[in-house]
Amino acid sequence: MTRTRLAPILTAATLAALGFAPAANAAVERLYILNCGEGVAGDISRWSPGVNVGKSMDFVDNCYLIKHSQGWLLWDTGLADAIAAMPEGQRPADPRMTHWRRPKTLAAQLGDLGVKPADIKFVAISHTHPDHVGNVTMFPQSTLLVQKAEYEWPSPVGPRFKPEHPVLKLSGDHDVFGDGSVMIISTPGHTPGHQSLLVKLPKTGALLLSGDAVHFKSNWDNRGVPEGNTDKAQTTASMQRMADILAKEKAQLWINHDKAQRDTLKLSPEFYE
Ligand SMILES: [Zn+2]
Repeated sequence: MTRTRLAPILTAATLAALGFAPAANAAVERLYILNCGEGVAGDISRWSPGVNVGKSMDFVDNCYLIKHSQGWLLWDTGLADAIAAMPEGQRPADPRMTHWRRPKTLAAQLGDLGVKPADIKFVAISHTHPDHVGNVTMFPQSTLLVQKAEYEWPSPVGPRFKPEHPVLKLSGDHDVFGDGSVMIISTPGHTPGHQSLLVKLPKTGALLLSGDAVHFKSNWDNRGVPEGNTDKAQTTASMQRMADILAKEKAQLWINHDKAQRDTLKLSPEFYE
């Protein structure tokens, strides 16, 4: 039987029923990189102990907006939009940490694309550090996609999310739209329920969005475990798992805070297909 004769018989639904979920049938359409913060890290040896002690580095903070035929997904919400109104940005209590600024709000960037917060079906959060969850409350109707371990991680300042916010508490990997095109990948270690995102774009190919499983390229190359991480063995295992996924999926690793890499990428309103 020729491929031509097979084509009308094997619909996408049939292929899915047979256990095939080829990237060619995936309905993820676009990915936008949003500017969710810019800053200067005081001492990058904090993220790679013993390497580049006392050296500062420019950081960026990205959010990623993904258009799928079933709806919009926002990956991370960045620094709080309120920081945009602070003339000197937000100084860290510890000078080794990052002094953040917000050149443009998340709300304004969504507005430029004609996307309203209520249009966002899912808000998936890599982890609950403030430079990633700054604007979660802007999306009270969106379903949060968070690991149960992160949701329930005790916090000295009270619950990490509003109890009334709709949420899917995950235990491991999760196929967001059921077609294999957008996969949450469990990568604990930086925090108890840290996760990364694998996106299979039709033209660009597969991308693995790091979250903070790694902070910048040399940190990845050295397999550096930041001193503030909650679990060193989990961190190392997660980085190995990411390396295996990159090889298997022939994926690019996009490192959230790596400015040198982001300078090579297109920012919203440009997009990747
Ligand atoms: Zn973090």
